Amino acid sequence: MKQSSNRPYRCLFGPVRSRRLGVSLGVDLVPSKTCTLDCIYCECGKTTRKTLLRKAHIPTREIVDELNDFLSGDPELDHVTFSGAGEPTLHSGIGELIRFLKKHHPRYPVALLTNGTLLFDPAVRKDIADADQVIASLDAATPDGFHAVNRPHPDLHLAEIIEGLTAFRHTFVHRLLIEIFIVPELNDTDAEITALKNVLARIRPDGVHLNTLDRPGTESWVVPACEAALERISGILGGDLPRFSIGTPRGKGVRTINEKQLARTLFGRPCTAEDIAAVFGIKTPEARRLMDGLVNSGQAEKRQMPRGVFYFARKNAGSGKTG
Ligand code: SF4
Repeated sequence: MKQSSNRPYRCLFGPVRSRRLGVSLGVDLVPSKTCTLDCIYCECGKTTRKTLLRKAHIPTREIVDELNDFLSGDPELDHVTFSGAGEPTLHSGIGELIRFLKKHHPRYPVALLTNGTLLFDPAVRKDIADADQVIASLDAATPDGFHAVNRPHPDLHLAEIIEGLTAFRHTFVHRLLIEIFIVPELNDTDAEITALKNVLARIRPDGVHLNTLDRPGTESWVVPACEAALERISGILGGDLPRFSIGTPRGKGVRTINEKQLARTLFGRPCTAEDIAAVFGIKTPEARRLMDGLVNSGQAEKRQMPRGVFYFARKNAGSGKTG
């Protein structure tokens, strides 16, 4: 895989490999960490700019230039994905960017990871109508669950968000998935899951994913749901739901890497050496050596977590996640 230049990117990160989207170029449209929510499990850290204001947080022209620069190298990608360390629909140029990709780089399917909170706004629904796949999160269907897990902007109302998702489904002809992040004791009770089931019956997404903690979250007390709990929830929701963890699956090698690419991938989300090895198609010891190099140069730090040693980008060393 090649790109047309080795310039550093402000908005692009990866490509990363994931189970849902394959090899995906990430596009981060807002500065870290700008979001409508402050989820307790967010792998990008605490929201520092909680806002509902849509604007060109980064000039749209600059993002177009970066996309053109990277995609003119004709890379092998399964998706171009709007995601990152914040909520992509807060960028007022997202509609223009999707149209640009569809017109000038039509071979690449466009995916959007969103928290769905702005879909009550018809302008947002129109902006993202041409995406090939929208993965929207909805972690709770009761106000108590919503506030406990997602810590929303005070002007957000769960009923409006659910109405927005339902209205979007009515007009969106491509693939809509709903992602539910389970936090034990906060949104995993039978009452919470039954409320979610009723809402999902109204939204009628093409699929539902259950997630739970795999990477370090914003709040250190958040723990993963156990397999039995996920099975129980899956049963209440309706049986054969496709379910994914957040972990990066093992994949084939896709490219050579340099320090900047590695650092940008870490800005997307914390990774283990095994994750990095899978993303870049290198051996784990080599990934560990490269990551330790970033630690030694002050660009990253590492921390022991239940799933292994995770490497984090240091906040002052660059920018970029999944909503
Ligand atoms: S998980 Fe997504 S929606 Fe929640 S705070 Fe993080 S970026 Fe925002």
